[in-house]
Amino acid sequence: MGGYGSGRPSSKQKAEHCKSLDVNRLHRGGCLRPGRRGNWVWSRDGEEVGRINYKAEEGRVVLDYRVRSYGGDWEATTETIRITHVECNYGNKRPYFICPGVVHGRHCGLRVGKLFAGGRYFLCRHCYRIAYASQSEARYDRMLRRANKLRMALGGEPGTAYLIAPKPKGMWQRTYQRKHFEIEWCESQANQLFLSKYRHMFSKEEREAFFGS
Ligand SMILES: [Zn+2]
Repeated sequence: MGGYGSGRPSSKQKAEHCKSLDVNRLHRGGCLRPGRRGNWVWSRDGEEVGRINYKAEEGRVVLDYRVRSYGGDWEATTETIRITHVECNYGNKRPYFICPGVVHGRHCGLRVGKLFAGGRYFLCRHCYRIAYASQSEARYDRMLRRANKLRMALGGEPGTAYLIAPKPKGMWQRTYQRKHFEIEWCESQANQLFLSKYRHMFSKEEREAFFGS
């Protein structure tokens, strides 16, 4: 059995490029009938790019697949997704997924037609957007913390408002250069994350100056 082998989700990852599950397609294929089991395969240009096993039960579908995060080992994952039916025209009923996402400790529970495999689990578009935002914030903090730690280890002050301290006595020039470079790198990463988050707040001219577009 294969897996969909997600890479590290990036903020550039668009929902439409992720592997998705469409509740209506599953429904039309009879995949939601309790007792039914099988596998769902994604392919691109005639080649299989991912596969999951599913098992339909009363009011829910259980997914069973393997994922591999960037550079890691394959891990077996099981995800249970509740299904609800809502009356639409002419007394017909339309199925919906209840998003199983838990973001910032809160259960999502949105009624949606599509779930996306942007990371380890199949979640709604809304959940992935929140997850991406908090992920880049965490990275922003991490980068600045690392830069500040290095700045202080060199005997300087934390924060980009200060110059990086000169080479301490007794430190190899190459060691100092490496630390200096690492501080600059961390701070420029944080800067990029900050700018891309607030990109929409800049004027066209500022965007050209900061992003070159
Ligand atoms: Zn959700």
